[in-house]
This record gives sequence, C-alpha cells and structure tokens, in this order.
Amino acid sequence: MRGLLKRLSACALVCTSLLCASLTCARLWAEGAAGAKGAKAAPIRLPGAAFTALETITPDHIRWHVRYLSHDLLEGRGTGQRGGDIAAEYIATQFAEYGLKPAGDHGTYLQKVPLVGLTTLPETQFSLVPGKGETMNLKPLDEYVAYDQTQQPQSEIDADIVYVGYGIEAPEYNWDDYKGVDVRGKVLLMLVNEPQSDDPKFFKGKALTYYGRWTYKYEVAARKGAVGVLLVHQTQMASYPWDVVRNSNSGEKSYLKLEGPALKAASWIHLDVAKRLALASGMDLDKMMQDAQSREFRPVNLRARLKAHMVTRVRNFESSNVLAILPGSDRKVADEAVAYTAHYDHFGIRPDMPGDNIFNGADDNATGCGILLELARAFGGAVARPRRSILFAAVTAEEQGLLGSEYLGKHPPISAGKISLDLNYDDVKPLGAPEEVEVSGAERTTFYPTVEAMAKEFRLAIRPDARPEAGHFYRSDHFSMARVGIPAFSINEGMKYKGHPESWGLDQEREYVEKHYHQPSDEYHPEMEFTGDSAMARFGFALGWEAASLPKLIGWQKGDEFEPARVKSQP
Ligand SMILES: [Zn+2]
Repeated sequence: MRGLLKRLSACALVCTSLLCASLTCARLWAEGAAGAKGAKAAPIRLPGAAFTALETITPDHIRWHVRYLSHDLLEGRGTGQRGGDIAAEYIATQFAEYGLKPAGDHGTYLQKVPLVGLTTLPETQFSLVPGKGETMNLKPLDEYVAYDQTQQPQSEIDADIVYVGYGIEAPEYNWDDYKGVDVRGKVLLMLVNEPQSDDPKFFKGKALTYYGRWTYKYEVAARKGAVGVLLVHQTQMASYPWDVVRNSNSGEKSYLKLEGPALKAASWIHLDVAKRLALASGMDLDKMMQDAQSREFRPVNLRARLKAHMVTRVRNFESSNVLAILPGSDRKVADEAVAYTAHYDHFGIRPDMPGDNIFNGADDNATGCGILLELARAFGGAVARPRRSILFAAVTAEEQGLLGSEYLGKHPPISAGKISLDLNYDDVKPLGAPEEVEVSGAERTTFYPTVEAMAKEFRLAIRPDARPEAGHFYRSDHFSMARVGIPAFSINEGMKYKGHPESWGLDQEREYVEKHYHQPSDEYHPEMEFTGDSAMARFGFALGWEAASLPKLIGWQKGDEFEPARVKSQP
C-alpha cells in the first residue's frame, strides 16, 4: 500500500510540474518511484501531503503578487522609503494569513535592519606623499573614490602605505599575502581579483572566488586593523572600466550600521595614480603586479604615506526584513530549518528625475517575492509538515549591496549552523515554460545529487554558469547566507523555453539587460507568462521539503571556500 502511494505520488509530482508530457508519467510509472535512470541520489519520496500542497502552486497566484508589488503606488519599494515599507507590510500580512509564525523582532514579522547612508563630501582631501618627490593631491572621482566606513562625520589619516599584492589570506589554497606582517594602522595598497590560474583546484581556476571581490579585500584589511585600503583599478582585473568604479562610488552609499572594525578610507585609485606612486617609490607597477602572482610574495613598505581628511555626511535610516516560520513536525529536529529568501526592495522613486521616475522592479524582484509568498502559502496549507522548520525571509536592501540578507546572516532567528539550506529567488523572468534550471553553487554542496535527481523528475536540464569568472554567485542574497556557512544557492530558469530555440531566451535576456534592468521600465504587463515562475516554485518546494526531511543537515563539499564558516557555526 505504501509502495503504491509512493509511486502515485512521484507520478503526481512529474505530471503536475507543467513541464511533463504524459510519456514521462508512463515512464516513471514503469520504473517505479526510483526516478530517472542514472540519478546518483536515493529515490525522491515526498509524502502525499507534500505533493498535494505542491499542486496548489499556480502561475496566477504569483502573478497577483507581482502585479501588486510592482504597482506604481508601491513607488519602487525603495529601501527606507514608504513604498518599501508598504511592501514589507503586505508580505507580513500574507505570512499571517497563511498561518505562519512571526520570526522577526519581539514577536512581529519584521526584523529591523539599521542602515547608514554615507556621502563623501567635497571638503575631503586625499593625498599620496612619496618618500621623495612631490605630494600627489588626488582629484575625487577622476583619480580616486573613497568612503569612510567608520561612519564618522570626520576622520584623519596619516599612515604608511604597504603593498600587499592581492591582499588574500586563503589557507585552503596555501596562499597568504600577509606572511604574518603586522599591518595595524597601515594603509594597504592592493590588487583586485585573484592570482590567475586555469587549475580548478587553485582559486577555482577561471572562476572568480570571493577572495577576488573588492568587498573581501576591505573586510580582511579591516579585520587586520588597517586604517585604509587603496585598490588599484586595472580594467582587465576588475572586469569593468574606471567609469563603473566612479559611478558606483559617487553620491550616497548605504551600509549596515557599524558592528565591527572598519576602514577610515575604503578606496580605489586610478591605474595612472598607482603607476605614479610606484615610480615615486622607486618601483615599477608592472613588476609589482607580476610579483603578486607568486606564493612567495611578501608585503612591501612603499615608504610613502596616505594623508587624508575624510568628511562625510552620515544619514541613519531603517528598513526591515520580513521573517516567518512554519514549525517542523519532528520535535527532535524542529529547531533546525530550511530557509527560502527573496529580496523585496528595489530602487524606489527619484522625485527629481523627469518622466517615469518609479523603479517598479517587476522582474527584479517582485517575481522572487511572488514565488516566496506562493511557497509560504503552499507550505502553510499542507495537511502535514516537514520534519524541520521552514524559514521564509523577504529581505531588504539587496540593491544597496545585499545588506538585508547580510544582517539576517549575522542575526538569524535560527542559528546559522542549524539552517540546513537556503534557496533564493531573484529575478525569475515571466517568459513561459522553461526546459532548463540554473542552480549555480548547488554543485558545491552535499545536496547536489538530490538537486540533479529532482531536476530530472521535473524534466529540467541543469544549465551551468556561462561565465563563472564574472562571480555572479557573489551578487545575490544566497551569498550572504553562504558566507555564514549555510549551504545556499539561487534557483532560476535557464535560457531554453518550451516552443522556442535557446537563441530566443538569450535574446530576451539581452534585451532585458539593455533596456529594462535597473530601469523604470522593469514593469508589470498583463501579457507576462508566469508558468516558469510557478515551475521554479514547485521545483524549490520539492527541494526544500526534501532538505527539511533528510536524516542529516546539508553541508559544503570538502575544501569549499565556505566550509570553514560552516564548521565554525556548528560547534
Ligand atoms: Zn534582484
């Protein structure tokens, strides 16, 4: 009897995935519940209650959320703006209606996220003083950009500049640019990116690891007690031109309110400035860059100083993550959880902008919120519950630099070591029925065999990351969960949609990036097709339920860059 139920259930999963032909069902029927041939994982045996709940997930439910959240009245859901707060209240209200428990502050659904907006003011002075020769007074935006991460209105810097190559400390790759040198009170000159290699075992070959990102460079320097960082901008290493550095580092920038050590000057300098500084210090920048490729590299004191007077406008403001929990059914593991995340913020409204000045963010990321809410409804309505709890988190300030999820990672309602998995949704295009799924990063977790088997059940081909060197893994909220050790990845459609060649999907993507990405024209249209969003929700529902029922918590693969954080979080 149970065997038969299992078989029926697996069949139901496939048949209702909106992607299956009846042929699949017949094939599965013939093979029993073992799933597709060649799957490495154990057969997927979701209980009947899970399948019934999964079947209630529909494209139209997701559509209605997207329609509302991207309405002009929501004013682009800006972080710290009225529209953002309305979106948060809407999501909290849905969570309550679905019967989920509040998991925010003081028994509410909202977790307050304290934020600070910093603007570096024109009074700031920024000078490089070589041991010999003339002081270089740098021009803001043309020659340098800098923020005072100590979040003070004024800071003074007068400190030695030490060149630390890539500024990376990565024991798993046997790499340490610091070699134990004390850099407290120093300003560190460093390169972005990471040592170049094609060896997948060395900084993941061509793929960018977190060590290559500028955020890592600032963090490690602050941790070591440095007062400032000068990142050398080189177009090829950064993978974008100086204009991008200049544009993303002018005007107000948002940060989480300070919780740890910070730099008085987190800055980039133009390549020409770096060359002049090297020359004035009797060195050659090309040679310095070459030296940084070696494991034997040691920090070099340039005998030059940074003299800076940082003047900053500091604006405190607040936003909220929206958190809810469905308690698990098994008392032994109900204190553990599987998390779903999606950011609800977008760029808000710009009153001074002529024409359409509302950044509605329909694709980015009302779609992810619609999926998150539909998952919450399906789980909340299931007649049985998975063993572990399910945490639903609509996070804020993603567009400001993953700040809401960073705060959640640092202050999770369930400790990070007890969160088995985070599944994130960001910008899931309403284009129709996908034949592929992207789960980049999943292959780095112990859960991957299950992900592969589930994708087969759903008739979805797994599409690999086309440009791992671009470091997309580090650019959405699952990364904030990963860095505190939680196995995490985003679920999205690939490029191949039913009834279209792959080139059609690529064309859609190109057009979106050129015309609508982060623009007021990312709006809701009634002709949008939410079949794919529903399919991604169902796929994630099945994965989440399965993860919440496994005998053990999920982990990162041995040697993964996030494994040490996982180990630390599970004492
Ligand atoms: Zn987004």
